[in-house]
Amino acid sequence: MKHSNIYEPIKCEVERVIEESPTIKTIVLIPEREFVFQAGQFISFTVPGVGEAPFTPSSSPFVKEKMDVTVMKTGFVTSAIHKLKKGDIVGIRGPYGKPYPLENFVGKEILLVGGGVGLAPIRALFYSLIETIKNYKKIVFCCGAKTPADYIYKDQILGKWHDLCKKLPISFRITVDKKDENWKYGEGLVTKTLDNLDMDISNSVAIVCGPPVMMKFTTLKLLDLGFKEKDIYLSMERKMYCAVGHCRHCLIGPYFVCKDGPVFTYDLIKNEPGLWA
Ligand SMILES: Cc1cc2nc3c(=O)[nH]c(=O)nc-3n(C[C@H](O)[C@H](O)[C@H](O)COP(=O)(O)OP(=O)(O)OC[C@H]3O[C@@H](n4cnc5c(N)ncnc54)[C@H](O)[C@@H]3O)c2cc1C
Repeated sequence: MKHSNIYEPIKCEVERVIEESPTIKTIVLIPEREFVFQAGQFISFTVPGVGEAPFTPSSSPFVKEKMDVTVMKTGFVTSAIHKLKKGDIVGIRGPYGKPYPLENFVGKEILLVGGGVGLAPIRALFYSLIETIKNYKKIVFCCGAKTPADYIYKDQILGKWHDLCKKLPISFRITVDKKDENWKYGEGLVTKTLDNLDMDISNSVAIVCGPPVMMKFTTLKLLDLGFKEKDIYLSMERKMYCAVGHCRHCLIGPYFVCKDGPVFTYDLIKNEPGLWA
């Protein structure tokens, strides 16, 4: 049966809570019925009696009976989400917004650039790309975090996903702003991983998600490297309440992040005031 009331949350049980970093947790949810979304879309996550907030699922859109939501603790609702434990009941509504347009990526080389909790939507996208890998020439995945302790999805990025590189046209470029004595990968801002890219930039698209300052400097560097404005996809976040294009809290110029986004190409929003706020 189709869900008719867009404001009514679907009940979910918390199956597991994964501590990704000191400030970020992944909540594994089991919805009371299959929940279909596409990478890049978002949900509104309700903690009963506390409130709700928007998040992009970070798990594979091909898995319908479970969903991962990766949440950084920043305030009221996210603190309540961080207190959740196995067996708790929460709600989700959605999915909302426009997903990454995979059809535009066919035949291309794909650059993924994610920093901090911005790796969440990119992980969902990466799972989708792997499922349809024959459609793309290659994937270069650049990941950043402040320190090794802040790296989320360590088991995948530093482990399982590396094995994929042996059989699929995928490579990783991994960095932290500041390393420690055990860190074997790169050091420097995520923009540094864009140096000496082995890609045919005229036939590439870039997908970027991270904190505003990272999105800004990554976009500027991509433009310098020759990426076209229309080939740079940004996942934008704004404070929002309704998630369905009514409350106007999430506007970027004339665009609703909740309805017209959250995925935008840079050419569409590049002149909007406060873009990187
Ligand atoms: C489409 C979309 C997808 C998102 N996906 C994720 C995700 O996958 N993981 C994740 O951790 N966060 C994500 N966010 C951000 C998340 O929604 C906010 O961190 C959350 O709403 C904060 O709620 P709070 O009650 O804990 O914070 P509050 O107590 O309301 O505020 C605490 C601080 O967070 C800031 N803040 C509040 N809402 C937002 C917002 N929407 N965007 C940016 N800053 C905000 C406030 O300005 C304040 O500085 C997403 C936001 C959007 C719009």
